Amino acid sequence: MKFDTAIIGGGLSGLVAGIRLVRQNQKCVIISSGQSALHFFSGSFDLLNFLPDGSAAVKNPTKEIRNLIQQAPEHPYSKIGAEKFIDLAKKSEDFLTDINIKFQGSAKINHFRITPLGFFKPTWLTLSDFVVSENENKPSWNSVSIFNIEGFLDFQPEFVAESFNKMGIRTEIHDINLPELNRIRRNPSEFRSVNLTVVLDKPEIQNTLAQIFKEKSKNSEVIIFPACLGFESNEILPKLSEKIGKPVYLLPTLPPSLVGIRTQKHLQDYFKKSGGELMLGDNVMSGEFEDSRLTRIYTQNHGDIPIVADNFILAGGSFFSQGLIADIDHVYEPIFNLDVEFSPEREKWYNPNFFETQNYQKFGVKTDGDFKALKRNQPVENLYVSGAILSGFNPIKEGCGGGVSLLSALSVSEKILNIEETK
Ligand SMILES: Cc1cc2nc3c(=O)[nH]c(=O)nc-3n(C[C@H](O)[C@H](O)[C@H](O)COP(=O)(O)OP(=O)(O)OC[C@H]3O[C@@H](n4cnc5c(N)ncnc54)[C@H](O)[C@@H]3O)c2cc1C
Repeated sequence: MKFDTAIIGGGLSGLVAGIRLVRQNQKCVIISSGQSALHFFSGSFDLLNFLPDGSAAVKNPTKEIRNLIQQAPEHPYSKIGAEKFIDLAKKSEDFLTDINIKFQGSAKINHFRITPLGFFKPTWLTLSDFVVSENENKPSWNSVSIFNIEGFLDFQPEFVAESFNKMGIRTEIHDINLPELNRIRRNPSEFRSVNLTVVLDKPEIQNTLAQIFKEKSKNSEVIIFPACLGFESNEILPKLSEKIGKPVYLLPTLPPSLVGIRTQKHLQDYFKKSGGELMLGDNVMSGEFEDSRLTRIYTQNHGDIPIVADNFILAGGSFFSQGLIADIDHVYEPIFNLDVEFSPEREKWYNPNFFETQNYQKFGVKTDGDFKALKRNQPVENLYVSGAILSGFNPIKEGCGGGVSLLSALSVSEKILNIEETK
């Protein structure tokens, strides 16, 4: 099997790179073993929420990028460079719009998403279904009705209401019950967002919901509902809002993330529709190198039939997706044994205080300035690395996980396509 580019890992980064490449007529395959971080997606992509030294919350990522580069020269954004960072952030926004992923936000100003516990967190792009606030102290409305489904435990509106009340927002909570949900209600482990949406997305239920929402939210400007609507399409929520005559927004629930799964499926479908080949449930096991190039890779399902490509992208994610593995005293990359940045002293890997900075978050595959993987300190000329598996950044402390995945995916795709850079 021969391709222009073979991508290992079909999470956010691998899929974005794949779509970018097939849209330029590349023959492209993505091999992906399992679920990705998108299954736990909050609904918002973070670009840069805090500088690495923790000194300040970032308001405008495009303004702070030069400070980040000074503080963290090994950060993936530093490898991209300040001007190119601004360019790729904009291109990421355009890319999502082009492939019909609707969002709110811009790299020029962080807005605030609202967490399932009612905290306001800075972020870059939030899917259009979700409730956001332009400032940290209060959203633009003064009254809200929060609806929950009776017996649904993955959403606790009381926490959110407490937070809104402190801001002076008049908040009502309503529990709703629909006989159509009784069948899945019998088994608590089935009473989860993904199963609920299968029922709630039905057109006849949409009409019932619209009636209930309208009747009970007379005193509220907006309606909030747990993220259990709109699995098949992002048109369901705007249509419901139209029926009621006021905005209905979603709030994230505990995982699994319905919108994350929807986003992943959308990206997969788009990739396939554009001519890409997707090998799901297969695991890349090894590769063969000649001089400084990777020539072929082998997967679990295809045994000794190699996948040959001109270029490869490793987008296998971090520890969470087993793109990186930690054993008792070292951290390694399991497919090619690439060079990995990690501390040899195990006690430095993590801080026992869960809320402190965790050093292991910065561990990852070492690359040169073009995101070419390093093996025994030498770049592999045609093996690029993108997304969470990269070294040099802390997605939690800096709030930059989604941004690194998107920007590095577009960056390596442009390098493969030989597009002139403005670094
Ligand atoms: C639980 C969790 C939640 C997060 N939520 C957010 C969020 O809400 N917003 C945000 O901005 N950032 C978030 N992040 C940061 C996140 O890392 C990025 O946003 C991004 O989704 C990572 O994408 P990725 O494609 O690099 O890796 P992943 O999403 O981890 O995907 C890697 C894929 O590679 C596959 N794979 C691994 N090894 C192999 C192999 N040998 N062969 C074949 N396939 C392989 C895996 O099965 C997986 O599908 C979150 C991270 C985690 C861990």
